[in-house]
Amino acid sequence: MSFLYRSTRNKEEAVTASQAILQGLANEGGLFVPDEIPVMEVPLEQLAEMDYCGVAYEVMSRMFTDFTEEELKYCIHGAYDTKFDDDRIAPLVSHHGTHFLELFHGKTIAFKDMALSILPYLMTTAAKKNHSDQEIVILTATSGDTGKAALAGFADVPGTRIAVFYPKSGVSPIQEKQMVTERGKNTFVAGITGNFDDAQTGVKKMFSDPALGAYLGEKGFRFSSANSINIGRLVPQMVYYYYAYGQLVKSGEIKAGDRINIVVPTGNFGNILAAYYASLMGLPVNRFICASNDNKVLFDFFTTGVYDRNREFILTSSPSMDILISSNLERLIYRIAGNDAEKNATLMKELSETGKYTITDEMKKALEPFYGNFADMDTVAKTIRTIYEEDGYIIDTHTAVAAAVYDRYKEETGDTTPTVIASTASPYKFTRSVMTAIDPAYDSQEDFALVDKLEELSGVKVPQAIEDIRSAEILHKTVCEKEEMEAVVKGFLGI
Ligand SMILES: *Cc1c(COP(=O)(O)O)cnc(C)c1O
Repeated sequence: MSFLYRSTRNKEEAVTASQAILQGLANEGGLFVPDEIPVMEVPLEQLAEMDYCGVAYEVMSRMFTDFTEEELKYCIHGAYDTKFDDDRIAPLVSHHGTHFLELFHGKTIAFKDMALSILPYLMTTAAKKNHSDQEIVILTATSGDTGKAALAGFADVPGTRIAVFYPKSGVSPIQEKQMVTERGKNTFVAGITGNFDDAQTGVKKMFSDPALGAYLGEKGFRFSSANSINIGRLVPQMVYYYYAYGQLVKSGEIKAGDRINIVVPTGNFGNILAAYYASLMGLPVNRFICASNDNKVLFDFFTTGVYDRNREFILTSSPSMDILISSNLERLIYRIAGNDAEKNATLMKELSETGKYTITDEMKKALEPFYGNFADMDTVAKTIRTIYEEDGYIIDTHTAVAAAVYDRYKEETGDTTPTVIASTASPYKFTRSVMTAIDPAYDSQEDFALVDKLEELSGVKVPQAIEDIRSAEILHKTVCEKEEMEAVVKGFLGI
C-alpha cells in the first residue's frame, strides 16, 4: 500500500516519501505530512522480540512506501550499528518510579542522533531513486544538538554539503565546542547574533525563496533540511517509542495492548509528534505529556488554545528547548483542522504576521490526549538533585524538565499508568548545569574538571564525544548577523 506526502499549506502539492525527504520543506513554507498513517499489523508481542533494527524496519517500511526492502535495510543497518555505545541502541532504564528511554547513546550524545544517523542514508538513497545529480546542501538551524548530530551524520558524505547556524550566545559551552571543532571537509558552521528562532526563520526564508532556489539549481546545488521539519527525521523517531513499548512488554511491566504515557521534553515539537504518529499507527498511548521549560508557549497553548509567541525569549539551562516557534506543531494543527491546508495556512499566516493564532473549540477538543506543563530552572535543578540522591542516577537538564513535569502530572491527576520519559541528552552534554544542580559549589571548577567529577559521581564512563573535544582545534570561527545568512551560505558554496 502506498500513499503520498502532502503540504500542510497547499493540498495540490503531493510527493512520494523519497521526494519529501530530498526536498525537506514543501513550497510556501508548508511541511510534508503523510496522507495516511498505515496500521502496524505486526503484533506488539512480536515486535517486543525484535532488536532495534528489526523494529525500525517494520515502522519505516510502512511510512516510506517507495523505498525497497533492500534500500531500507541498507539505510537502517548503516545507521544503527557500533556508532552507538550500547547495543540496545535505545536502552530503557528504571529509576524514580518510572522508565527513562535513553536516546543519547549515539555519536553526539543527544537524541538527535537517533534520526540524524539515518537521514544521510535516506537522503542519498532518495537522490539516487529520483535521479537527482545536484549536490545536496543541508541547511540547518540548531538550538544546540541538531547541529552537531547533523554534522556528524553528513560529514564527508559524497554528494552533500552541510551548513549549520546556531545562536552564538544560546548554546552550552560543550555544544558549541562540539560544533566548531567539526572536521568534515564538506561542513560549515556559523554562530549568529540572534536566538534560535532567528536562525530557524533565516533558514526557512532561504528555503522558500524561489529566486535563490533557481540560482542554486543553475550552479548544480539544491537545498535540503536536516531539521525535524524533514519527514526523514520524524519517521525514524517513531521507531523508539515502539521499541520502548516492546521492552516494557518483554520485562513484564505491561501486557501487550496496555496503554502507556509518554513524556517528552519539547522544543520544536518533533519528538512528541513522532510519538503521536506512532500512536496513530496503533501504539497504545494514554497521554502525551508535553514538557516545556520557561519558554512555555506550548503549555499556554494547550491550556488556552491560543498560540502566542509575543513574549520574552528566555535563555535557560535546557537550551535545546529555548524555542518560541515550535515548527512541528503545524503538523498537529493541520490534522486537528481536519487535514485542511487552507485553514492551516490561514493560521500560519496569522502567526507570521501577528505572532499568534487561536484555534476553535472543536480543534481544542482534539488535543485531549495531550497534557502540557512546564518546569522553571530551580525546579529542574532540584529534580536533578533529588533523582541523583535517590539512587545515583544523573539526568541532564532537558530530561529533568520532563521528569519535573511528570511529577507534577502525577500529583495533579493521580494517574498511575506506566510511563516512559524520553531522555534526550547525556548529562555530559550539559555538565556545568548538571553538576551545579547537584551542588552549587561546583560552579568554580572548569568544564573538563567537572566532566571528570561527573564520571566519579555517576559511575558512567565519559563518552567518546566528550573525550574527542578535550583538545580538539577550533576550525569554524564565523559569526554573522541574521541578515547575512544568505551571503554566508553563498560564500561557503563559492557561488
Ligand atoms: C532537540 C532537543 C529537544 C527538543 O526536541 P524537539 O523535537 O525539538 O521538541 C529536547 N531535548 C534535547 C536534549 C534536544 O536536543
